[in-house]
Amino acid sequence: MIKLSELYSGKAKTVFKTDNPEKLIMEFRDSLTAFDGKKKSEAPKKGYYNAQIAAKLLQLLEEKGIKTHFDSMLSGTEMVVDAVDIIKIEVIVRNIAAGSLTKKYPFKTGQKLDPPILLFDYKSDEHGDPMINEDIALALGLATKAELAKIRKLALSINSILIDYLDERNLMLPDFKLEFGRRKGKIVLADEISCDTCRFWDKTTGESLDKDVFRFDKGDLVAAYREVARRIVPEIFKKK
Ligand code: 5GP
Repeated sequence: MIKLSELYSGKAKTVFKTDNPEKLIMEFRDSLTAFDGKKKSEAPKKGYYNAQIAAKLLQLLEEKGIKTHFDSMLSGTEMVVDAVDIIKIEVIVRNIAAGSLTKKYPFKTGQKLDPPILLFDYKSDEHGDPMINEDIALALGLATKAELAKIRKLALSINSILIDYLDERNLMLPDFKLEFGRRKGKIVLADEISCDTCRFWDKTTGESLDKDVFRFDKGDLVAAYREVARRIVPEIFKKK
């Protein structure tokens, strides 16, 4: 596979075209931003840990019957993915109240949400990713009613799979963000699942092991990401 020109560069990943029009390369970078890009930094190996965590979790979901855009790893930080038509909705699944939910509503941080809460944000930097409902998604033509129903079902299935998997690794999953795309008429899971897009809390101590370490200056970000990688992809730490 030949890496061609850059297609898109986001806050933490760059997407490249390849010589196969059906495949793209998603490169995980060491940069990170928070609060609509107002806070910026670089963290060595962050891209590597996130890429490895995302690869493992996307493959786990594939094994459990969820269609994803994952194809293979080209290097430690480069993931080959299927080209999909991205649906401009950020799907947020919440199992425990944290972050913006506790700012906007009278939920207490740490409060269990059972059944989980599913929220949709309009994926648009220009508009500041505002929360939307199904009517707005339909009126904006972001997805059809059938696609929204499918996305909801997939997000809840993904949530159950991840909760069980992470629980065995002594991690809680308070919330996370998913993105979906269309490929050959089907809805597939796209983007990443990593420390940048999930809240991971240590089950014993409640310590944040995710981007909140950066957002709220809670300590050593790379150490937190490495710790999650140690639990999810222990094989990358084995001496060869
Ligand atoms: P909150 O709404 O509390 O800021 O975020 C809820 C969850 O969704 C967190 O796990 C957060 O990482 C994820 N999330 C929400 N919006 C975004 C986004 O625009 N980018 C990333 N990387 N994660 C997001």
